Amino acid sequence: MTGINKSDTQRYHFDIYAILEGAQEMYFGHEVQVNVNQVERVTIEGEGDEKMLKCYLSPTKRRGVERRALLWAPHKDGQLLSDTLKCGIPKTCAKITCPICYVYGALEAGKNTLIGRVTHGGGVAVQALDAEEKQRAMHPSDLVRDKNGETPIPFRREYNEPGLFYPVYNHALSVSETEFMPVAYAFLDSLARLGAGNPKGAKLAEHEGKVLLVVDKYLVPKGKRPVISPHTTNPKEAKDYFVKQTESVRDATLAFGESTEVDMFKRWTGDNALAQLEAWSETFVKTHLVN
Ligand SMILES: [Zn+2]
Repeated sequence: MTGINKSDTQRYHFDIYAILEGAQEMYFGHEVQVNVNQVERVTIEGEGDEKMLKCYLSPTKRRGVERRALLWAPHKDGQLLSDTLKCGIPKTCAKITCPICYVYGALEAGKNTLIGRVTHGGGVAVQALDAEEKQRAMHPSDLVRDKNGETPIPFRREYNEPGLFYPVYNHALSVSETEFMPVAYAFLDSLARLGAGNPKGAKLAEHEGKVLLVVDKYLVPKGKRPVISPHTTNPKEAKDYFVKQTESVRDATLAFGESTEVDMFKRWTGDNALAQLEAWSETFVKTHLVN
């Protein structure tokens, strides 16, 4: 048994597809090299012998930022939602009533496990532009030392270059529309907070004035998935491919920026998709933060 409550309404699968653009340099440390200020990269191997290194907005880190966006959401009682729910990181509450644990999953050691039903993908930058190492005048910890008359030691850190495009995807498995609402809130709220340290943030990239964003709600996947190959290095090709895949829905005619519904499948695209995520976020806020 899964331990997941019976929902009052039909459950669906929900997918979010987006291309993000780094608005400035960004730092997301490499998991295995925590002490050397290197950004996370992946190696892509081509058909020949050529290999390329690409910057990577790793799905696991994006998931962590989303969970924090929920935990640190402002509650009307003057606390952060984490304190109101008594749910944190790493100590998750694992309660079936918790709107965060219930979809993001939780493990209460030896007692309770909630399966996570939202998964994260993508994140390999489109452009094969390697990180740049920059010298920073002073590490915050050196400010203290400086007061004691010692010379501050400059530190070097790598950064993902500004303007990199990152295709990213969130998938929710067998959730009701209500259960998906915190995922919509977390996705939108985390955009300004992606990255470790400062500066942070990315935006939804645009194509002809429309945000490159797609939301699917379905029982049967009838639309082509706008997933960008990590081998793609040309931003225009990546965007065009994203739009072309998005417009391909079985038995439907869909122009990017519109929405369509066929039997067992609904797709919102462009600013329509953004409006739908905002509507779900607003209901989440009304239910869990302000009422
Ligand atoms: Zn919880």
